[in-house]
Amino acid sequence: MLALARSARWNAAVTIPIYDTFIAPDAAARVSRVLETTFVSQGPVVAEFEGMLSTQLGIVNPVTVNSGTTALHLALVLAGIGPGDEVICPAQTFVASALAIRYEGGVPVFADVDYETGNVDPRSIREKLTEKTRAILVVHWAGTPCDLDEIHAIAAERGIPVIEDAAHALGATYKGQPIGAVSDYTCFSFQAIKHVTTGDGGAVAVREPERAAEAIRRRWFGIDRAASKPSFLGERQYDIEAVGYKYHLNDYSAALGVANLASFPDRLRRIREIAAHYRRELADVPGLRPFRVEPDRESAYWLYGMHVEGRDELIRALHAAGIVASVVHQRIDRNSVFGGPKELPNQARFDESQLHIPIYARLTDEQVEHIVTTIRRGWSS
Ligand SMILES: *Cc1c(COP(=O)(O)O)cnc(C)c1O
Repeated sequence: MLALARSARWNAAVTIPIYDTFIAPDAAARVSRVLETTFVSQGPVVAEFEGMLSTQLGIVNPVTVNSGTTALHLALVLAGIGPGDEVICPAQTFVASALAIRYEGGVPVFADVDYETGNVDPRSIREKLTEKTRAILVVHWAGTPCDLDEIHAIAAERGIPVIEDAAHALGATYKGQPIGAVSDYTCFSFQAIKHVTTGDGGAVAVREPERAAEAIRRRWFGIDRAASKPSFLGERQYDIEAVGYKYHLNDYSAALGVANLASFPDRLRRIREIAAHYRRELADVPGLRPFRVEPDRESAYWLYGMHVEGRDELIRALHAAGIVASVVHQRIDRNSVFGGPKELPNQARFDESQLHIPIYARLTDEQVEHIVTTIRRGWSS
C-alpha cells in the first residue's frame, strides 16, 4: 500500500514522461496463446512478425534478432568488418552504435553532426575517410532520415557498404522509399521504449537475398535451420562454415511485436500530427528552433528535438509543469572506451542547446496543449 501511494505521489509530480511503452490491448492474449502451445522459441510467430514488417512497412528481407544491438553486430559481421577496420559513425547516438563496431575489433571513427538535424554531416564523413575505411554507419537521429543520397555517393566511390542504425526510424521514409529498403543493411530496435516493442528485440534488413540468407544462418549459430533435419540418430545434420551467434527472436516476443505493430501506422499518423502541431505552435517562440526536416523525407519522430537558448531554464520550467524534457544522449565519443572526446565543433555546439520534448501517440490533445502553453509562456535565458 505504502509503496503504491509513494509511486502515485511521484507520478503526480511528473505527469508527462519523455518516453512511452506501448502495449496493445490484445498483446497479453497473443503472448498467452504462444505460452499455451509451450513452443516458446523461434517459430511461426517470428515468421508472421517478419512478414508484417515487409508488407506493412516495406522493409526488405527483415531478419529478426533479439536486440537492436545484435542487429548492428550482425550487419557489421556480414559487411566483413574485422580487426583494425575503420567504420565512420556519428557521436550523436546511443553507445550501442559504436560498441557494435568494437565487437569485431573495428575502430569507430566519429564524424561531425549537422547542427540543424542531429544527423551525421556527409561532408564530415568525407573528411574522415582513410585507406582503412570499410563501412559507413549512420543513425537517423530522432527518426529523421540522414542525407542518404550524399552518403551513398561516398560509399559507392569507395565500394563500401552503408549500415543504417534505424532504431529511431521505424516507419520513416526517404524520397518516397521506406527506411529498411534503401541501404545494404538497416537495423531496427524493438526495445521497450521504441515505436514498436517486443520487450527486447531487433531486426536487420538485408537488401541482397543471399546475404539475407546468411543473416538467417548466422543468427542461429551458423546453422541452416530449414535445411538441417534431424537424422535417425536424433541430431540435426549440418556443417557450420562461419561463426554464428545465438541472436534469434522467440515466438512470445514476436507475439508482442505482432500485436503492437498492428496499430503502428495509426500511431505514427498521430505522432506526425503532434509534430506538425508543435512545428506550427512553436514557430514564433523566441530562442527556440525545432530540428530541420527536409521536405523530401518523413520523420518517424521517435523524439521531437529542438535547439533552445537557455535550455536548462526551459528544462526547469517544463519540470515545474510536470513535463519531462531530455537531451536523450550526449556525444558518445566522450566515453573512455572510445578514447575520449574528439574534435567535432558542430557536435560541441549541438550538445550545448539540444533538447527533446515528449512525443508519442498516447499523448492527449490536452497534454500536447499543456506542453505548448508551458513553452510559449517562456523561460529566462
Ligand atoms: C535503442 C537503440 C539501440 C539499441 O537497441 P537495443 O534493442 O536496445 O539493443 C541502438 N541504437 C540506437 C540509436 C538506439 O536508440
